[in-house]
Amino acid sequence: MEENWDVVVVGAGPAGSTAANEIAKAGFSTLLIERDKSPGRFNSCGGGIGYFLKELFDLPEEIVLAEISKVKLELGDAEKTYVSPKPLYISILRYQFDKFLAERAASNGAALLLNTKALDYDPLHKTLTCLNRETRTRVRFTARLFIFADGCRTLAWKCCKVGLPADKPLLIGIARELTAPGHDMDAYEFIFDEIKLPYGYFWVFPKGDTINVGVGGPVRHVRGRIDQMLEDWLATRPELRDLPCEHRTSGLIPGYIADKLHGAGVMAVGDAGGFLNPLTGGGIFLGMKSAQLAAGTAIEALSAGRFDSHFLARYTHRVKFGPIYSSVKFFDFLVKWSQNYREKKGKPMLGYVFRAYSDMMFHLLQVIKDI
Ligand SMILES: Cc1cc2nc3c(=O)[nH]c(=O)nc-3n(C[C@H](O)[C@H](O)[C@H](O)COP(=O)(O)OP(=O)(O)OC[C@H]3O[C@@H](n4cnc5c(N)ncnc54)[C@H](O)[C@@H]3O)c2cc1C
Repeated sequence: MEENWDVVVVGAGPAGSTAANEIAKAGFSTLLIERDKSPGRFNSCGGGIGYFLKELFDLPEEIVLAEISKVKLELGDAEKTYVSPKPLYISILRYQFDKFLAERAASNGAALLLNTKALDYDPLHKTLTCLNRETRTRVRFTARLFIFADGCRTLAWKCCKVGLPADKPLLIGIARELTAPGHDMDAYEFIFDEIKLPYGYFWVFPKGDTINVGVGGPVRHVRGRIDQMLEDWLATRPELRDLPCEHRTSGLIPGYIADKLHGAGVMAVGDAGGFLNPLTGGGIFLGMKSAQLAAGTAIEALSAGRFDSHFLARYTHRVKFGPIYSSVKFFDFLVKWSQNYREKKGKPMLGYVFRAYSDMMFHLLQVIKDI
């Protein structure tokens, strides 16, 4: 395999494959490296995303397992249901979704290298050292630009202090796929139980013949207890508690967008850059959006032959002066405000903030096509 590339993208999750796809489509030589044998096989996720992503990212019907037009919020004793004339969410399986996105990037010209783990990045020589996990041999790649899309624990931070810092607080989530052929669940449910889980929520939504359930919250509040929390909550739902679990995942979720998203020859996208909605913990949409912004900047950089930090700052500016950052900052403020309010006044607020957010999103999702 060629060892010098225009762009090397590390990580074939939704963000990495989106970036690789756009850059390869523009005609630049692009290598997409993934540590697993098949993209998405072990990626932790519930798999619920906004319906508008289907059109925005041209997702095929085959990978959409359910279209969901009903959303139910449970806030202690109160409940609110939203029913929309058109779908609000879709559910997907990550091993199908990620595989589709990676293969699409490959069909548009990116070289997809699976089972290869990036071990080290040398910013001075613009060299990435990887391990071929099958042959146990090391291989080095050089490129004019590197895009890190390797999740929360990104190599970009370790090697050049770009992306999500390794020592900052994170959220954690677990999700289970329950086998339920013929079930009649049709709503995406968000359950706030601010006594058992003051700073997070449980979720349930349909996904073909399965039902996805899970829970997420800040690591410092749920560490070591999160599995039991889900067990206890499932015990309160007789229709779910005895269903066999066919797949379970758990993983870290970034807490905020990183301060430094680029450096000389480097950009961080998706979880590696901390892109998530702080209210829902969803990161797929913002991860793919960040990848599009980074890919646009990469194409300009390759056309101009400029890979210095000053030029790549265009990416950070596009993020930080665009709608992504202002909405994330606003949601982050709401989450922190509700946490402070609870700590000072002992009154749970997160669920109510989420309800206000849902009221807004319900209307927005009817018309939203992109941000
Ligand atoms: C339990 C749970 C439930 C969630 N549910 C949802 C949800 O329903 N909806 C939603 O929008 N978001 C959800 N999220 C968040 C979502 O999963 C992430 O935000 C999203 O996957 C980020 O995409 P990404 O491409 O940036 O990173 P990832 O999906 O993490 O992809 C990174 C890729 O890089 C690869 N990689 C990592 N290190 C290396 C390396 N050194 N060398 C080579 N390859 C490497 C990994 O194998 C992986 O394929 C959930 C998260 C958790 C933990």
